[in-house]
Amino acid sequence: MRYAIMSDIHSNLYALEAVMTDVGSENINQILCAGDIVGYCANPKECLDAIRKLKIQTIAGNHDWAVVGKLDPLCFREEGRKAIFWTKEQLSEEDLNFLETLELIYKNNDLILAHGSLDNPERFAYLFDVSNALATFEMMDRLVCFVGHTHVPQVFVKEGPHVYLGDSLNFTLKLGCKYVINVGSVGQSRDNFPLATYCIYDKDKKTVEIKRIPYDINAAQMQILEANLPEMLARRLAVGQ
Ligand code: ZN
Repeated sequence: MRYAIMSDIHSNLYALEAVMTDVGSENINQILCAGDIVGYCANPKECLDAIRKLKIQTIAGNHDWAVVGKLDPLCFREEGRKAIFWTKEQLSEEDLNFLETLELIYKNNDLILAHGSLDNPERFAYLFDVSNALATFEMMDRLVCFVGHTHVPQVFVKEGPHVYLGDSLNFTLKLGCKYVINVGSVGQSRDNFPLATYCIYDKDKKTVEIKRIPYDINAAQMQILEANLPEMLARRLAVGQ
């Protein structure tokens, strides 16, 4: 069983298309999305259409919730807030209903999926360091949990009582360990690599691979500017921040 796990598409259709092309060459059985389909970039409707058409199993992120009024837009910085209001205007009743009904957690026999963290998922906590990841490990009844939200791919490992940051984004699961894996962001990387990021999990081979895919950043930027969204949202795509 091979999974493609993506997160934080953020209405960047060009990045999503590049990732989906790559997924097409990877012999994938199931595609999952850890939330934030919308926000920041200029193609929310097209991204939602693609997610539904490809039957990608998706959970809710904080931007998805804010667009449907389940989270206060004042929780966001000004640029993000503007994009949330703009996004709401672009979406149909059906699109909004789809976002509204997304669950916060997805679980199957092989893995768990959450946007920020497994504990209090409705708070959308950021897992940046080991201390943030402890509560998620405590709640895990699977070997692996995939998250997004920080837009920075990272691997947390629990080996016996010890929790530490893994030193590789391309590795084989070790017997007796549990893993919280941040799959990075498709549409707005923030780890200085201006590329679309996603993850492949091969359950049978027990391998995890974070992949970085080039896409047409210029086209995504033009759409943001044409939509009169904050210029900063276009600029940051080119530097991966
Ligand atoms: Zn996000």
